[in-house]
Amino acid sequence: ADHVIDYPIKSDLMCWKSLYSYKKDDQDVEFVDIGCGYGGLLVTLSPMFPETLILGIEIRVKVSDYVINRISALRQKHPNQYLNIACLRTNAMKYLPNYFKKGQLKKVFFLYPDPHFKKSKHKWRIINQNLLSEYAYVLAEQALVYTITDVKELNVWMVKHFTEHPLFCQLPENDVENDPIVNIMTDCSEEGKKVTRNNGDKFIAVFKRIPDPFFD
Ligand code: SAM
Repeated sequence: ADHVIDYPIKSDLMCWKSLYSYKKDDQDVEFVDIGCGYGGLLVTLSPMFPETLILGIEIRVKVSDYVINRISALRQKHPNQYLNIACLRTNAMKYLPNYFKKGQLKKVFFLYPDPHFKKSKHKWRIINQNLLSEYAYVLAEQALVYTITDVKELNVWMVKHFTEHPLFCQLPENDVENDPIVNIMTDCSEEGKKVTRNNGDKFIAVFKRIPDPFFD
């Protein structure tokens, strides 16, 4: 439960060295996989972006422990590799600004987020109007948010919320198709592999953080 989550009271107080012991002092986390599950995306992105610190956020203790152990085993087996990925157990719907400063993040991923089908549960969806403002706060201008789901209704919901929000626009299909990350993100996570095995649909949408029209 949430009450055992130990989070910094402000982002300056977060000790990132405990997750990335080799990180340079001026290096910040730039990519975040929200609800990272078993960590397939982190492991795939690590060698693609060796200079970038990438974080997976996962709320379930057993799952985050699994990812922490997975990364530690990879680091032992492949010296000097996988040093740029880490997993943090926290609630992304509550504490993101406690970890990241304004405009810090360059890419955020939501791969197969929980659909919460019932109308009464829609408030638990990890994409909603209020949370989008929080995500916009920690994202840099021009940063990208990648989403994929096998649930058409959730895709429609996410597109609606992002496009209605003043600080996001949807990336045109052409740009999405040409982004190499899109190709890998459909299948590299454990949920993605499951959807592939079951011949499920995959709905992709990518959004850009646009400048605030009221501030420079
Ligand atoms: N992205 C992974 C994948 O593609 O394999 C996992 C998808 S799974 C359907 C959704 C994940 O989001 C679960 O592991 C769940 O525990 C996590 N999650 C749900 N709400 C969360 C929250 N508020 N903060 C962090 N993780 C959350």
